[in-house]
Amino acid sequence: MKQKPSVKTFNVHGTNDSNSWEFSHHLVPPQTASTTFRLKSLKRGAHGFSTFASNEKMNAAGKNDEPIWIYDRLAEPSTKMLEEQLCNMEGSECAITFSSGMAAISGALLSLLKAGDHLIAHHTLYGCSYSLITGWLPRLNINHSLMAINSLTAQDLKNPNTKVLYFETVSNPSLEIIDLPKIQKLVKAENKTRKPENRIKIIVDNTFATPWGMRPLEMGADLVIQSLTKNIAGFGTEMGGAIMTSFEYLSSLLMIRKDLGAIMHPHSAWNIMVYGVPSQVLRYEAQQAGATKIATYLEKNPHVETVVYPGLKSFPQAKLARQLLRSPEGNFTPGQMLTFTIKGPNKKTEKFINHIAQNCYSITLAVSLGLTKTLIEVPGLMTHAAIPKNKQEDLGIPAKLIRMSIGIEDPRDIIKDLDKAFSVLSKGK
Ligand SMILES: *Cc1c(COP(=O)(O)O)cnc(C)c1O
Repeated sequence: MKQKPSVKTFNVHGTNDSNSWEFSHHLVPPQTASTTFRLKSLKRGAHGFSTFASNEKMNAAGKNDEPIWIYDRLAEPSTKMLEEQLCNMEGSECAITFSSGMAAISGALLSLLKAGDHLIAHHTLYGCSYSLITGWLPRLNINHSLMAINSLTAQDLKNPNTKVLYFETVSNPSLEIIDLPKIQKLVKAENKTRKPENRIKIIVDNTFATPWGMRPLEMGADLVIQSLTKNIAGFGTEMGGAIMTSFEYLSSLLMIRKDLGAIMHPHSAWNIMVYGVPSQVLRYEAQQAGATKIATYLEKNPHVETVVYPGLKSFPQAKLARQLLRSPEGNFTPGQMLTFTIKGPNKKTEKFINHIAQNCYSITLAVSLGLTKTLIEVPGLMTHAAIPKNKQEDLGIPAKLIRMSIGIEDPRDIIKDLDKAFSVLSKGK
């Protein structure tokens, strides 16, 4: 038996001599760009079709069988190799990539829910996840309750139609941390009273924490979603999503990906595999070190009303953060995301943001997050605009909330830029 390398090392080398494809002479696997594949015989073609997405076959394929590639929308070598790396990052049995984070979330929910089912979701979610659950799923008669999921009780799980709990491990944008171990205990107790096919599944979106910052599968989540577009791709060039889970769910997820057609382009998979994954830990740790300095600076700034960052002593869930936000090496990982508000009317916030957009070198007004470049945005007006205005405040998204995703720049330059923008407020009447 070969000794399993650490996550960091595997991120750099991947499976190296993957049986997905013969490329052993290359240091870096060549890019694949073939939508269809030559089949040696009709028998082999038929075998490929009849065994696609069957669990037994997929389990075995990882070990000794040569895979039968048929057509890119079913599966293909570059994405398969990326999936092997993603499994290792998140600590899962398998990974299924999608064209975007939203495609992965749609695939997960549609594969586990049918008409008449009900899901419980945390009330604060990424804007498009919110509109998927509240706008589209009800058209399929899949209904929901939105609630403060940290207050979940055993009673809330008694509806026999409830089949899924859905939340972000670290909520976008409020940075509220969901107490997954506590929720898992409640779900486990409820599931003991149900038939296996009616079990409640826990689906979590771990995009903010990244696989390096939190280990939801070890805490009892059934499916973990990453928007690869964010920290894992990391450079702002690729879109992608992935579900990391156990073999139990593999076949239905492969089937729904095939039929929805929400596959990742192999070129994107290759970029994420070659550039994103190997550098993720380095980038995340640098971003986190920067975020810690910037949050500390903001907390001392007289213009600032509130700062929320899981690494600050003032963080409302500081103890839970220290418990749940841990890397595979066991270190505290408060992450790269922070939010803050500025004292005074909303107009001041607008002035501040416009100054940054027009004058600052190291901070860009843009959505997305987890990138090498520092980004700033106002969620209530941008990423979370789909959430009705009259609900935003209660969900931890006040109109003047500012969200920052810290990049890998020298944090002193970011602080200098923030300082300049704050000084404009001092001058203003
Ligand atoms: C961006 C984001 C998504 C959606 O990912 P895309 O790749 O843009 O589709 C989902 N969840 C969270 C928490 C996100 O930040």
